[in-house]
Amino acid sequence: MTQKDEFCQSLALYRLSATLLFNHMTQDFLAQIKLRLLENQSRLERDLGDIGTKDQKDKKQFNVDYPESGGSSDDDNAVEISEYADELSIGTKLEAELRDTIKALQAIEEGSYGVCKYCGKEIDPKRLEARPTSATCIACKKTLTQEI
Ligand SMILES: [Zn+2]
Repeated sequence: MTQKDEFCQSLALYRLSATLLFNHMTQDFLAQIKLRLLENQSRLERDLGDIGTKDQKDKKQFNVDYPESGGSSDDDNAVEISEYADELSIGTKLEAELRDTIKALQAIEEGSYGVCKYCGKEIDPKRLEARPTSATCIACKKTLTQEI
């Protein structure tokens, strides 16, 4: 091997590691995120399955079952209604999380994952690691929460 060959080889290696370091959406990183999102998805679906049933027409939609205590007195009905309201709000939260998770998984498939939906800039991987469903960068998130 000539000196030039050696030089070219080390340059190629250097470029490869530089790409891995600076390209923040590495395949490894994406694979890791995807795995976490898939785990999230099955956990959310299981949790939602506990409090409701999957909508037959729309698989992403869950219907919260109306709890039946068996009694029909006014007291029983009041308990049922408040239980239902609790489950409904938990259900809504889980549903929103599930929707975000599915959206993030779709974005990975489409190759648009990790890009802020407002400014189009890349989202800090640390933010994505902490919250894989993030669809906004920190700057936009700050602007948005200040507006509210
Ligand atoms: Zn942004």
